[in-house]
Amino acid sequence: MKKSKNYQKIISQLDNLYIHVSEMAKAGGDEIWSKDKKALQEAIGIIDDYEKATEQAALLVQRYEVGAKVIHRGMSICVCPQCGRRARINHAYCHWCGKKLIWDSVPVPQKRRKNGK
Ligand SMILES: [Zn+2]
Repeated sequence: MKKSKNYQKIISQLDNLYIHVSEMAKAGGDEIWSKDKKALQEAIGIIDDYEKATEQAALLVQRYEVGAKVIHRGMSICVCPQCGRRARINHAYCHWCGKKLIWDSVPVPQKRRKNGK
C-alpha cells in the first residue's frame, strides 16, 4: 500500500531523530532531551499502531463490505468465494465467514411463492 510506505518513511525519520536525541541525552545535556526521547518513542509507537489499525480496517472492509460473486456448483448448490463453504441461496452474507455475497450471475432458483394472498 502507498500509505504504508509513507508511514515507514515517517517512522524511519523519527528513528533517526530518536538516535540523535539519545546521543544528546547521553552527553548529559538538559533533562529535556530525555523527555524528547520518551515522546519520540511514544510517537513511533502510535504511528505503528495506527498503521496496523488502518490495515486491519481495510481488511474488514474487504471482507464484509466488498462483495464477491458466489461460485455456482450446479443445481442449487453455491459456495462462498472466500471460504468455499456452502452459501445459502440469496443470502447477502456468508453464514460461515461473513463475506458479502453477490448473486448476479448465478441462475438462482427463485423461492416458490405460496399461492393465494
Ligand atoms: Zn464464506
